[in-house]
Amino acid sequence: MNYFDLTEEKLQGSGGYIIAEITDEQAKKADLGVGKLFLAPIGKLEEQNMKKHFCKICEEEFDSPPKIHLEESNREEVADNLVLVERGQYNCQKCNSTIGEYRVFQKQDESQDVGNAKPTNSP
Ligand SMILES: [Zn+2]
Repeated sequence: MNYFDLTEEKLQGSGGYIIAEITDEQAKKADLGVGKLFLAPIGKLEEQNMKKHFCKICEEEFDSPPKIHLEESNREEVADNLVLVERGQYNCQKCNSTIGEYRVFQKQDESQDVGNAKPTNSP
């Protein structure tokens, strides 16, 4: 897989859309099988990869990336082995309404062995 092969896609959010350059891997995550790509499953997009955004409130497409608003950066376990490390929003440059949301997850087992001895007994 070529990680430098970015394609420009329209990514749907609840309050509009973002035109961004994404990798094939991100496109697969964003494709929920309904013929559109969605912002939420991708995770956080880099500001330099976002080219335009459309705001439903302004009914206007802007030739600039949306503002990134960090909502929370607490570590929160959401499932076995899955930790929510960051949550935020993409906001309209003009009216500040939410274009879409993002969540960044981390698998817990990546750091689980650090400082932990392996259990020696099993029930
Ligand atoms: Zn707006």
